Amino acid sequence: MNFAPLELDEQTAAFRDEVLAFLDEHLTDEVHEEEWRTGAGHNAQFHKALGARGWIVPTWSESEGGAGLTPFQEVILERELAARHVPTITKGTTRLVLSAVVEHASQRLKDEVLPGVASGDICFCLGYTEPDAGSDLAAARTRAVRDGDEWVIDGQKMFTTGAQNCQYAFLVTRTNPDAPKHKGITMFLCPLEGAEIQAVHTLGGERTNMVFFDGLRISDHYRLGEVDRGWSVLMGPLNAEHGMGDDRGPVIESRGGMYGGATVDAYAHAVEWARQPDVDGKRPIDDPGVRRRLARVALDLETMSLAPGPMGRIVSSENLIRSARDLIDLLGPAGVLSHDADGAVGGGWIEYSHRFAQGTAIYGGTTDVHRNIIAERMLGLPRSTPR
Ligand SMILES: Cc1cc2nc3c(=O)[nH]c(=O)nc-3n(C[C@H](O)[C@H](O)[C@H](O)COP(=O)(O)OP(=O)(O)OC[C@H]3O[C@@H](n4cnc5c(N)ncnc54)[C@H](O)[C@@H]3O)c2cc1C
Repeated sequence: MNFAPLELDEQTAAFRDEVLAFLDEHLTDEVHEEEWRTGAGHNAQFHKALGARGWIVPTWSESEGGAGLTPFQEVILERELAARHVPTITKGTTRLVLSAVVEHASQRLKDEVLPGVASGDICFCLGYTEPDAGSDLAAARTRAVRDGDEWVIDGQKMFTTGAQNCQYAFLVTRTNPDAPKHKGITMFLCPLEGAEIQAVHTLGGERTNMVFFDGLRISDHYRLGEVDRGWSVLMGPLNAEHGMGDDRGPVIESRGGMYGGATVDAYAHAVEWARQPDVDGKRPIDDPGVRRRLARVALDLETMSLAPGPMGRIVSSENLIRSARDLIDLLGPAGVLSHDADGAVGGGWIEYSHRFAQGTAIYGGTTDVHRNIIAERMLGLPRSTPR
């Protein structure tokens, strides 16, 4: 097997240079500082700059607001954004929902939202989880009741990340409480104007939300797919999030790399720390025990980037949790100093990675749920939870 780095052809290398120049211009210190401060996973100005280049939906044609990139160029773009820690959580949720909108929305709704998505003016968040429905999404209770040409929405969503920066939520609602739970669900691209959004700040530094719907009235043209048949509409974005979607390269390819970025930088900062002499002039890296522990993190990084689909999701999260914990242990007190504290290694990146790591086992479907997906849908084993 050839482990040499991939050589890019001239055209691809030129495109990568274009991406790097774009990042140098638009990814300012202010963008990073805002993300440290808010944990929002989104920067409106940067997002619109991406939109102006056609890089929010880069494989769409220029007339649709894209840039006509090839799927491979899209991979290059996504990798560089990830490597530079661009806050792209809301771009990610918008992209996940887009396939369902393209497939199931009325022409009126497509005309209303698609140009704005491409330009960066419109974003979507995921309105799945509720206080009593997380892994078991079909247990959702948020009600949608038809009233003429409108629907009335009542209920509460939990962990609706990015809602404060989004115009619409891809909303799971119950329209038939008497049907078996998978059969009474209807999906909406629900305008968020009129919903109450309350911030939730996590241990990992991320901002997410509770969203309350109290008699919110929306037009029927915001419905995606048929009434009570929402489960099949939901499946597209959900499968893509679980790394079980179609064969679009970036979605699958980025699974292992999803949390790789945090590990890459934590590792780099730890190596840098290990190369510095202490007060006695000794460098930690000269100790074989330290080198062995750093090498283990480097190996974790390799396996993270190689595993595809739901396997990548699990390995990526679990390796990050283990690596961040090991690095904190290796560095001692300097490793637990947070961003902006004097003497924090790597500007607090290792401490942050350790906190951030914990949530990665939960969102986007927990690692347990991904193990079920591998067992049931890839290995054909019996269902863990009978219908
Ligand atoms: C920071 C953050 C951001 C999030 N962003 C969003 C978002 O944008 N939109 C959104 O809708 N949701 C979001 N979520 C919610 C997330 O998807 C859910 O928390 C997750 O799916 C788990 O649901 P739950 O919290 O209700 O836990 P539960 O489903 O109650 O699970 C509790 C425990 O039981 C285990 N478990 C449950 N069912 C099974 C099973 N069948 N087999 C094996 N083990 C099982 C789980 O792995 C977990 O350990 C976010 C969560 C966090 C923490």
